[in-house]
Amino acid sequence: MDYDLIIIGAGPAGLSFARLLADTGLHIALIEKSSLDDLKDPAEDGREIALTHLSEKLMKQLGVWNRIDPDFIAPIKRAQVLNGSSSYALDFTRPSEDMEALGYLIPNHLIRKAFYEEVAQMENAKILSDTTVVNVNTHDGIGTVTLSTGEKLTTSLIISADSRFSETRRKIGIGAHMQDFSRTAIVCRMQHECPHEATAFECFKYGKTIALLPMNGNLSSVVITISSQKADAVLNMDDDEFNAQVQKWFGNKLGKISLVGKRHSYPLVAVHADRFVAERYAAIGDTAVGMHPVTAHGFNLGIRGADTLASEIKYALAHGKDIGSLDVLKKYEKIHMRVTKFLYHGTNTIVGLFTNETLPAKMARKAVLRIANNFPPVRQLIVNKLTEAGKMGRSEIAGFLPPLPGLSTLPKPPKLPSFPPRFLQSRL
Ligand SMILES: Cc1cc2nc3c(=O)[nH]c(=O)nc-3n(C[C@H](O)[C@H](O)[C@H](O)COP(=O)(O)OP(=O)(O)OC[C@H]3O[C@@H](n4cnc5c(N)ncnc54)[C@H](O)[C@@H]3O)c2cc1C
Repeated sequence: MDYDLIIIGAGPAGLSFARLLADTGLHIALIEKSSLDDLKDPAEDGREIALTHLSEKLMKQLGVWNRIDPDFIAPIKRAQVLNGSSSYALDFTRPSEDMEALGYLIPNHLIRKAFYEEVAQMENAKILSDTTVVNVNTHDGIGTVTLSTGEKLTTSLIISADSRFSETRRKIGIGAHMQDFSRTAIVCRMQHECPHEATAFECFKYGKTIALLPMNGNLSSVVITISSQKADAVLNMDDDEFNAQVQKWFGNKLGKISLVGKRHSYPLVAVHADRFVAERYAAIGDTAVGMHPVTAHGFNLGIRGADTLASEIKYALAHGKDIGSLDVLKKYEKIHMRVTKFLYHGTNTIVGLFTNETLPAKMARKAVLRIANNFPPVRQLIVNKLTEAGKMGRSEIAGFLPPLPGLSTLPKPPKLPSFPPRFLQSRL
């Protein structure tokens, strides 16, 4: 075999998965179509990633968090959800004084840069940049990855981390549920007169959604979700018109508001793979599940899934098992599907409710906000899911288990919670 494991795609999911396997001695290749310069210093892409406490914990363990300049790590201490033109808000604050924030906002390009720097110094990983994977197959107990140069690499296990529109997942024969919202997210940074006080706002206006996510200083990441038909008009507005429009949409809450840098746009398509694994194959990150960004779960789920799969691989290695065998990979699929499936469909349903302009839907939105505000158990549940505080990564759970003679004698790991409706985990 050329490599024990080949990861296709060095985005946040592929890089974090490689980093999680640093202490395994596995001979790993990461294949990425972007240039080395882009990996070393990724361009700012307008995405500011809201991270849960679990992601923070994993990133700290992996040495990635400390590589990010603290000036670019912004705490989110409060979150408000507004509906239509009403001033009634669903309001969340951090549940205790001990908790500094509900979550943290970090620019995507800095997360990618920090992960790249960690992986670049791993002795057991090689990054092949400027290289596109054009084919994959897993015949005769061997994984084969074909590069655009025509070269074929063999491996025990192929990992696809090549985005939600993964060609390699399709080539392995795994289908996916896709939901095209025919909407576009326009993202940019904006400066404002009044302080945001570390509050994230999500305003479900009729016809569009506007989120303001607090960055350090009087700066916010603005996310406008709008019908794709109208997106070009917003993208093409001159800066003065755009500033005035956002200020108006946002009801002047933060005073005068002005664009900093460029506007970026992303078509909104959510994807959930039918399966995450096959013989000698696993899908991670957005290739496994690519979420609508309104609940900001994408990378949080990506790193959580990577941690789960890495733990199963480490367990297999410790017990002399084949890391590419289906029984090893199926455990990852079972655990991660339990987390993702409900979240994915729940989020899509809520997006449907909050973008439906019929009268019953508008009334249902109002009811939903009031119920969530006024019933303490519902609020608590939402805050718990919002922060993922106190949640353990799979690797930590495995750390509690005694050395094992065989699977049959394994004590049951702590039961993962079932996932309640998450429609109000707005953008976090
Ligand atoms: C507007 C917006 C806001 C978001 N906000 C949040 C948030 O607040 N919180 C959160 O957790 N998530 C958020 N997300 C989601 C998050 O950005 C994604 O979940 C995350 O980037 C997915 O990482 P990935 O590595 O799986 O895929 P990608 O980032 O898509 O990376 C895939 C990599 O694979 C490479 N590649 C593709 N095909 C090939 C090939 N054939 N050969 C070689 N290389 C290949 C690509 O070049 C790329 O580098 C947001 C997304 C958007 C669009």
